[in-house]
Amino acid sequence: MIGTECPTCGESDRLVGERDSEVIHLHCQRCGTEWDREPVPTCKQCGGTDMQAVPKAIVEKSRGTQLSVVGTRTIHLCSACDADTLAVYHRNRPNPLMPDQLPTINAELDDR
Ligand SMILES: [Zn+2]
Ligand SMILES: [Zn+2]
Repeated sequence: MIGTECPTCGESDRLVGERDSEVIHLHCQRCGTEWDREPVPTCKQCGGTDMQAVPKAIVEKSRGTQLSVVGTRTIHLCSACDADTLAVYHRNRPNPLMPDQLPTINAELDDR
C-alpha cells in the first residue's frame, strides 16, 4: 500500500489492509501493531495531500431549464490545483458546490 507504513516499526511492505467502507484496518505482520487508517485523498494532478472535502450538489434536470438539487456527494479538492473552485465554494457556503457545467442557480438551494 503506497504511502502507508507501520506507526510502530516503520514497516511498509508486510502490511495487511482490510477495507471497511471508509476506514482501512491495517495490521503489521512484522511487529503486530494494528491501526486504522482513514483514506487520505491524493491529488491526481500534483500528488499532494492537502485536500479539502467539499459537498458537491447532485443536480437533476426536471423539466425544461428547471434544475433540482437531489443531494450532495463529497468530493476532494486540492488546495493548490483547485484553488479557484475552492474559492467559489467558500464564497457560497453553506451551499454545496454546483457542478461545473451548470450556471449558478441558487433558487432551489435557498429553500433548504
Ligand atoms: Zn510494525
Ligand atoms: Zn493538486
